[in-house]
Amino acid sequence: MTADLPTRPGDLPLSAAQRAEQRVQLALWASGESVWEWEAASGLVKVDAAEPTALPFSAVEQGMTLEQLFARAHADDQEALRLAWQLHLRGAHPDIDVSFRIQNDAGHQRWLRVRGRALGRDARGQVERVLGTLKDVTAQREAEDSLRLMAHAFSSTRDAMAVIDPQWTVLEINEALVRLAGEDSGIMPGSDLRQWLKLDDAVLAEVLADGIWRGDRELRCAAGDVPVEVSITAVLASDGQRRCHLVALHDLRERRLSEARLQRMAMVDELTGLPNRLAAQFRIDEALARKEPCFGILFIDLDGFKEINDSYGHDHGDQLLAAVGQRLRAALPEDAVLARWGSDEFLVVLAQGSGDTEVRASAQVVLAALASPFEVGDQAVRITPTIGAVLAPQDGLEFSQLLRKADSAMYAGKERGRNCLVFFDSTLDNDAQRRVRLTSLLRIDTDRNGFRFVAQPKVDAQGRTKGAELLMRWTTEAFGSVSPVEFIPLAEKVGLIQLMGRHAAHAAAQLAAACAELGHALPVAVNLSPKQLLQPGLDGLLLHACRRHGIAPCMLELELTESALVHNMDIVAPMLHRLRGHGFSLALDDFGTGYSSLSYLRHLPFDKVKIDRSFVMDIERDPAATRLLESIVKLCKVLGMRTVAEGVETAQQLAALAAMGVDEFQGYYFARPMPVDDWLALLGRPGEPPPLLPLPDAAG
Ligand code: C2E
Ligand code: CA
Ligand code: CA
Repeated sequence: MTADLPTRPGDLPLSAAQRAEQRVQLALWASGESVWEWEAASGLVKVDAAEPTALPFSAVEQGMTLEQLFARAHADDQEALRLAWQLHLRGAHPDIDVSFRIQNDAGHQRWLRVRGRALGRDARGQVERVLGTLKDVTAQREAEDSLRLMAHAFSSTRDAMAVIDPQWTVLEINEALVRLAGEDSGIMPGSDLRQWLKLDDAVLAEVLADGIWRGDRELRCAAGDVPVEVSITAVLASDGQRRCHLVALHDLRERRLSEARLQRMAMVDELTGLPNRLAAQFRIDEALARKEPCFGILFIDLDGFKEINDSYGHDHGDQLLAAVGQRLRAALPEDAVLARWGSDEFLVVLAQGSGDTEVRASAQVVLAALASPFEVGDQAVRITPTIGAVLAPQDGLEFSQLLRKADSAMYAGKERGRNCLVFFDSTLDNDAQRRVRLTSLLRIDTDRNGFRFVAQPKVDAQGRTKGAELLMRWTTEAFGSVSPVEFIPLAEKVGLIQLMGRHAAHAAAQLAAACAELGHALPVAVNLSPKQLLQPGLDGLLLHACRRHGIAPCMLELELTESALVHNMDIVAPMLHRLRGHGFSLALDDFGTGYSSLSYLRHLPFDKVKIDRSFVMDIERDPAATRLLESIVKLCKVLGMRTVAEGVETAQQLAALAAMGVDEFQGYYFARPMPVDDWLALLGRPGEPPPLLPLPDAAG
């Protein structure tokens, strides 16, 4: 039976029973319910749907057994359904009222609410017939579920929330809001939200237009104002009609703190706690912006810091930098800004009104502060600063200009022997430009080995050739011939020296091989830069050069300066022993210019000491120097090392040095450095001894 829905005008008159039936149908249609019936006789449930679409599935119209019906219910609901049925049939419950999930014909899950009541019982009290209604309540259940979820989210979220109506009246607040605002804040349902947050109707208009409004505000809390991010969204109240607004407040205090920390970090150097590069620039810009700026800037670079870092490890390097920062800060006047500029660079910005005198005084303070050794790990380490200085406004009205000039001055200080102060002057500017151009040319020539090598003989007291030193030469189109005194330090600074050293090692091995081919077993000396000694693969590289040119390592003499040794003894000493172990001979170059301590020589496997030209020059002028040199030569003999005098320019020098017992000599008196082919030609034909030096026509 299907419902005949409302009667149309012109239909036949109806009986009273028919009218009653019609009223029932109308009521069912209006409520969206269907009628069902179960009969004990047939055992079937049949449904009389108010609308076909209201039926959960078509089979019920034909009728199905209770078991069939239960089986179609959701597994989790079957038990409850069965129980409700039995309790009612046994008379324990006055009626059936149960909601359960069932799959419709399309395979979708629907919620049904089934109500019913037993109508007739037989003589034994058994139920004969049950009549009831059923309704698809899926939409309602889902709405309830989502409301339950919303309510749960509302109460359990950590963000503070309130629900308000369009007149700003608070309808609900959650726990988090009470916690944020404080128990005594007075915020509660019924109050006007605007008492706690500065908001106006324009905000709500925006919510209506865009669906959401967001902004930062201060929330008036019991304990004071708290910055919050406010977002307001429109929601429909549970009755589906009333519009209300969900206000979510996100506490910004933590974010503000970390923003402040970030800002601080942007201005402070983490390692030393000093102002950083940015802060320094800021201070200088600020000072320059004043009407009559007049102040000094010192650019400080630590000498040899990289070597310390490489040999002691970065942790110790960091410790040292922090300690240097501390000492400088403590020593410098309070009104001077001390900043960390880069890895091992510091910047001092002196107070307004400072000039030449104040810069010098501050430089003295800096030099004195770093004079005593630092403890790094369990070792005492010495470090010296090189300082470049500029004065504003005379050296520049812009930060970058001042900095560039201070850097140039510092660089000039490095070249003048470090541990000193150099003021900027205009000649340095040209130097800086020259350096930049030379560097790029040097890179190109290092890549393509665009260097030449010359050889300078070493002889004994009788003028017999004992070997030669290989020296690098570099000529550029733009600058002509550039002295190694200039380009070697540059190559060290820009990291090209290792590759250049490899070129030199091969050239030396090649020259030694060429000498051997002429029948002369003469060793060739090659200079190694301190940077090369820190190169872990140095010995492998040198052995490779020997193998490639077919010479024994003893035909290469490696010349090292003292400065290579002092800072990095723990790396350098093992390397020297390894090199000596391979058979290379080792010479200490420029002896007397640097640290002049023979004590550490005892522990190092040097074969030769090369006495620096400056000593040799002093011989004729300074008797004290002569006596000192005498004792050095004796000491070397005791230690089993040969001595070589460099820069011998006169017969007198030669005579004095020979009298002291110096073993070998090198200098313009005998021969100037010459192209390697000239040197090979000088050695003469195979089987003949080389001529004595100086050659009769060259001496003078
Ligand atoms: P050095 O190792 O002390 O080389 C000796 C320097 O003294 C050479 O200068 C040489 O030309 C010069 N000299 C030799 N005899 C006399 C003399 O009687 N009087 C005077 N006034 N000078 C003399 P040079 O060739 O300009 O080299 C300078 C420095 O450059 C070298 O000093 C060395 O430290 C470095 N150097 C040269 N070639 C190389 C190289 O291939 N590798 C490395 N790492 N350094 C090199
Ligand atoms: Ca040398
Ligand atoms: Ca030398």
